Amino acid sequence: MGFDPIGRSKNGEVTGPERQLAMVFDLNKCLGCHTCSMACKTQWTRDEGMESMWWTVVNTMPGRGTPKDWETSGGGFDEAGTARAGRLPTREEFGEAWKFNHDEVLGGNGKPDAHLAPKGDPKWGPNWDEDQGDGEFPNSYFFYLPRICNHCTHPACLEACPRGAIKKRAQDGVVLIDEEDCRGYRFCMEACPYKRIYFNAAKAASQKCIFCYPRLEKGVAPACARQCPGRMRHVGFLDDEQSSVHKLVRKFKVALPLHPEFGTQPNVYYIPPFAPPPLNEDGSANRNGSRIPLDYLRGLFGKRVDEALATIEAEIQKRRDGEKSELLDTLIVYSWPQDIFPDFDGDPSLL
Ligand code: SF4
Ligand code: SF4
Repeated sequence: MGFDPIGRSKNGEVTGPERQLAMVFDLNKCLGCHTCSMACKTQWTRDEGMESMWWTVVNTMPGRGTPKDWETSGGGFDEAGTARAGRLPTREEFGEAWKFNHDEVLGGNGKPDAHLAPKGDPKWGPNWDEDQGDGEFPNSYFFYLPRICNHCTHPACLEACPRGAIKKRAQDGVVLIDEEDCRGYRFCMEACPYKRIYFNAAKAASQKCIFCYPRLEKGVAPACARQCPGRMRHVGFLDDEQSSVHKLVRKFKVALPLHPEFGTQPNVYYIPPFAPPPLNEDGSANRNGSRIPLDYLRGLFGKRVDEALATIEAEIQKRRDGEKSELLDTLIVYSWPQDIFPDFDGDPSLL
């Protein structure tokens, strides 16, 4: 694949890359528009065998997600670093590519009143529970959670592959599957606790997000990040002190990994979501309450979520008081694309 790979060392451990690329997703700016998903789909997953693949998905939370119930499907490592058993999701749980009645709606075959609808009787899809959320009106809530492969520092997929077909690149920590070496055993799919690997039956190979590495090598940001109208996907090296990724993860510590207890040390981080205050019975706002239950957020992002939310709230108050806030300036992204992916601000139309 034309890079210096990191695989297993002789004692079975994975050595770290020289540098690690990361993404930070600001959940307060995600519109749920799925532009990221479509950008990825049109760039990478249009071939035969890839019809049901969404290397980047945007799930509504709380929800059962993609594939269905991925959060309780096992994989990853326990606290001692021992691999946990994982379950292989079915094609139905990922969500099949539905067929629609385009022939009736667009084909002019005598059904002028036909509405667009899926054929058959699908029971699940990649975003079956979109915009449903949880809670009782008027205090119901939801938020969007975009997910890709986390290009983990301790990738359970890599450790599970008996062929050594999964590699972590030395120059940027991107995790890639070598399809020439893959034999389609799918142990990686069981082992990944985020269930971000798909199986291509036409190729008999596992496939997943490649962090758009051919674009990275030309100084262009991944398609999902570049096309995101919410400007919510920051891309950069964790050790680059000038990058927004470094500031949000390491300096201000407000960007957190999803399900850190899965033990793979993800390199995708999230700014936790805020929501309007819940309403009291008389319709007044309960300023001390949290519409999104804090325990739910702790379950997703770990106990550090309290500290992260408190830090952001304190910075918002600083701005209200007329003071400057480097953290809020970083989150706002005044200058696009330089402020959000400084090393990858090349124009994709010139590729
Ligand atoms: S998210 Fe899953 S597929 Fe991606 S590197 Fe981590 S363990 Fe592997
Ligand atoms: S393109 Fe951006 S705003 Fe739209 S769903 Fe994806 S991450 Fe959210």
